[in-house]
Amino acid sequence: MRRSRRRGKSQPVQLKTEATIEMPITLRGLSEALGRPARDLMRTLMQDGEMVTINEMVDEETALMLAMEHGVDLTIKEQKDVEEELEELFNKEYPEEELRERPPIVTVLGHVDHGKTTLVDKIRSANVAAGEAGGITQHISSYQVDYNDKKVTFVDTPGHAAFGEMRARGANVTDIIVLVVAADDGVMPQTVECISHARNADVPIIVAMNKMDLPDVNEQKVLQELAQHEIIPSEWGGDIEVVRTSGETGEGVDDLLETILLTADLHEYKGNYDRDAIGVCLEAFRDEGRGPVAWMVVKDGTLRIGDNVLCGGAFGRIRAIYNDKGEEIQEAPPSLPVKVSGLDSVPGAGDKFFVVEDIERAREIADERQHHDRTKVLSRIKVPAGLEDILGAIREGKVQDLSLIVKADTPGSLEAIRSEVMKFEHPEVRVNVIHEGVGGVNESDIYLAAAGNAIIIAFHVIAEDRAAALADQEGVEIRRYQIIYELIQDIKDALEGMLSPERVEIAAGRALVLKTFSVSRSGTIAGCRVLNGNIGRDCHVHVIRDQTIINDYPIASLRREKDDVKEVREGMECGIRLDGFNDVKEGDLLEAFRIEEKKRSLDDVPAKSESDETPDEE
Ligand code: GDP
Repeated sequence: MRRSRRRGKSQPVQLKTEATIEMPITLRGLSEALGRPARDLMRTLMQDGEMVTINEMVDEETALMLAMEHGVDLTIKEQKDVEEELEELFNKEYPEEELRERPPIVTVLGHVDHGKTTLVDKIRSANVAAGEAGGITQHISSYQVDYNDKKVTFVDTPGHAAFGEMRARGANVTDIIVLVVAADDGVMPQTVECISHARNADVPIIVAMNKMDLPDVNEQKVLQELAQHEIIPSEWGGDIEVVRTSGETGEGVDDLLETILLTADLHEYKGNYDRDAIGVCLEAFRDEGRGPVAWMVVKDGTLRIGDNVLCGGAFGRIRAIYNDKGEEIQEAPPSLPVKVSGLDSVPGAGDKFFVVEDIERAREIADERQHHDRTKVLSRIKVPAGLEDILGAIREGKVQDLSLIVKADTPGSLEAIRSEVMKFEHPEVRVNVIHEGVGGVNESDIYLAAAGNAIIIAFHVIAEDRAAALADQEGVEIRRYQIIYELIQDIKDALEGMLSPERVEIAAGRALVLKTFSVSRSGTIAGCRVLNGNIGRDCHVHVIRDQTIINDYPIASLRREKDDVKEVREGMECGIRLDGFNDVKEGDLLEAFRIEEKKRSLDDVPAKSESDETPDEE
């Protein structure tokens, strides 16, 4: 040990102890990130017999070694892969001044046979000029109508499961949901599923109470059933508009459109007309003459002829764009549904599309995707939701909700489960039942769980075959229970696991710094005498200077003479090197402690919010 060479600075320099970098990185970049002069890093490398110039790349291992040697806790951020980049591009937000109003995109959902298709067709035929009416008999995935000089886009998804699937893939384009409920039938199981999908997508709902032309409808009964599912009609003081319609006679269609436009006004849907277009493919097929043809809705930006497009595993240069009336157009602004040709293959429904500058790049990504298991590529963005994963996510401070979908054999069971799980009250964690229903676990449940990061609880019921397969594919956990007590216990355990453990400091001993030594490879060593207690290698240390705690650091090495030791007792002298702190001074007091983690129980009242600081190495 040599004597320390004190730099003649009056103020102690607060050296960085933590840094994050992204690979690749040059020595210069690393030096900047670590806050250590590049020549110091070079010197360290040279001592290892390595010559690296300032502009040369350093690999991960070297970067970590250099950081450690210089007392910096280094995190290497995973490089964003291309899928993540695209994902970011898809969700990119622009400053207000670049945005302009765009038409709302509406999806019509409802229980089978409640009249979705009839209503959607009625809206369309009522809003096209007479001359065109002949051309609209053929079914299309989406269209735009003009009403009172405003436009509304309707997207026809083949049901709420498909809607959930798009959302699970992050490909939701819907701004407003019209929930069709037949007035003669009322709220049915699929209506409830639709409500859950809409609510979890955080999309406003407008109810179309349909088939109002039928003789024996009971409006109050329908409103009541809706209210039971927390759809409180505005006429009852709630915030959901209920519009009376008939797909058969066209009654209420204008009213519905007006309500949609009012809702749109309220939410101010906006788009950036100047950015490169992004959107979603709704449906695609191979056309005899035109090759692959895709129905797409532009979510944002303007799509133009000649644009290079990537869509799922397909790519190509847009050759032609058609609107919903089959007319050729040159460009498609936000919210417009269009049919395009020019792709090399047929993309899947729900695939996102992107305009990219470089067609070769699009080809590469498309090839790569086709290479992979398609579904994996598409669902890779979301986090699979198993209890373990959720616990992991919670440890990183991401989730406080334990989201559940509860399916059970009877309404009574549901009621019992709900009342039990709602009893768990705690300011830091809670159960959030995002959907519940009587019956087996179906595909809609899986998509809902996938999109909402929820676990499915199946009480006395099983999953339908296709749903089970889908759950595997989407990484959704289905937990089956026969006994309510076990279910509740598991949920309690999960919630308790979600509580970050209580951390208690146990004092170990105190040491006074008598002298400091600087060792070039490892940093500053404090020569100390243990005043009381024992100081262990596994301890953390509060560094106290002039009665003030500077910070906490783990002990990096503990020595007696030249030997590493596990513990040093009262009255003895030792050398202590701290991990991440080289600015120890004579006269500093090192107060050693150990951290004990105590699992918390839901029954404990939390003392007060703790600091999130986690010592390294834990
Ligand atoms: P979807 O399954 O929700 O798309 O329902 P459809 O639009 O296919 O309609 C189911 C059935 O209900 C069809 O036989 C329609 O003719 C009938 N229907 C739909 N809307 C109305 C309506 O407003 N009034 C009456 N009376 N029948 C309707």
